Amino acid sequence: MKRLVVVSNRVAVPDGTTRAGGLAVALQEALQQNGGIWFGWSGKISAQTPSAPQILEEGPVTFATLDLSRRDHAEYYNGYANRTLWPIFHYRLGLADFNRENYTGYLRVNTLFAHQLFPLLREDDDIWVHDYHLIPMGEELRRLGVRQRMGFFLHTPFPAMEILLALPGHDRIARSLCAYDVVGFQTENDLRAFHDYITLEARGEVLSNGMVQAFGRTLKAEVFPIGIDVDIIVDAAENSDEIEDVQALKRRLRDCRLIIGVDRLDYSKGLAERFKAFGNLLEHYPQWRGKVSLMQIAPPSRSDVPEYLRIRRNLEALAGHINGRFAQVGWTPLHYLNSSFERNVLAGFYRNSQACLITPLRDGMNLVAKEYVASQNPDDPGVLVLSRFAGAARELHAALLVNPYDEAGVAEAINAALSMHHDERRERWSDMMRAVRNSSLDRWRESFLSALRQAPYSVEEG
Ligand code: UDP
Repeated sequence: MKRLVVVSNRVAVPDGTTRAGGLAVALQEALQQNGGIWFGWSGKISAQTPSAPQILEEGPVTFATLDLSRRDHAEYYNGYANRTLWPIFHYRLGLADFNRENYTGYLRVNTLFAHQLFPLLREDDDIWVHDYHLIPMGEELRRLGVRQRMGFFLHTPFPAMEILLALPGHDRIARSLCAYDVVGFQTENDLRAFHDYITLEARGEVLSNGMVQAFGRTLKAEVFPIGIDVDIIVDAAENSDEIEDVQALKRRLRDCRLIIGVDRLDYSKGLAERFKAFGNLLEHYPQWRGKVSLMQIAPPSRSDVPEYLRIRRNLEALAGHINGRFAQVGWTPLHYLNSSFERNVLAGFYRNSQACLITPLRDGMNLVAKEYVASQNPDDPGVLVLSRFAGAARELHAALLVNPYDEAGVAEAINAALSMHHDERRERWSDMMRAVRNSSLDRWRESFLSALRQAPYSVEEG
């Protein structure tokens, strides 16, 4: 069987540590099935960038990881990836920091990664690069003479052309994407934005068969919505009653209803707007005071990036304000937890929540939305209130779709969720569960890899 080479910023090396991000789980299985290499940053910072990757063989998978120097980490990761591309790709021009040193550092680390991976490659490997940290890596590999099939999947949104044009070096980003044979996006919206850039800015073409021709290359650009391992979550939720944290939650709730939110602490997740909407609910629908609590789980992330410190302080103040205003003896309206939980514990929390509030201002997909649906008791499912700006909204039409900027509208939707009749809840849930099963993690992986295996398209075209 042909090997798969996965490249991503972080590598989930089996060393006992776990990450909260959705990417790691999505990739592990693909490598186990195909055998191959998982290449990327070790997550460690060392005095100097090492001259060769650390190698760990584990069954059919080779983990090859590189430490980053302090400067590379600051410029490539904290700098250009997380302070420039991340805000731009999430439509937050005002939060983006443009800085030549960071841009150079980003390109330097991508070149370094390409040079370090190159000697490990075999001629018939399929290469699958992930996410915004590593867009130029494919082009660097091509420069070194790599002719193997190369795919790229963008886990974040791809911004509308007018937003992307504000990024100095946007043409380099677009050209680099075209060095791959397959470029995958989460939603039609993202694909359309890419097509717009290709046709209107890069003067390329989108052919009638959907192929893209630009920068002297032909590639396939397609939508592959990422999903979850549905049965694992269903199973975890069904068996969650024994988990201590779940029992503790149930004891505390008694006849109080629960709304849950689970998000990395990130400004793209719309947490401040969500807290305000919950406050608005308590203000304008006083019948819920003392009867419903919001439990927001928000493990901190990227805490050495200044914007993330600011949002953390802001949320603490907002949570304090809401609790100060509405709390009663024996009832705390908002439980704000800055810690992370295992996925099976979360599944138990989801199953015991009457509603889930997922209101990102912009999100590539949002796997929590799908996990919430999969965790429900089919006989008595909860209701999902979901931002129309999450990729998941393109599939979960039966959620209560909201505009996260509309505080009163979100409060209205929460009220509707809490008041919803049993039959409607079941109907909406069945619809959503069908959609979640339709775009499972397996399907995502298989459809991307099968598109990749049909490359190279340039040769077929020519
Ligand atoms: N997650 C977790 N523990 C936590 C919080 C989140 O395991 O305490 C998981 C969650 O179950 C989901 C992933 O982290 O699978 C988050 O993925 P999502 O697409 O929702 O957001 P991202 O963090 O990738 O932006």
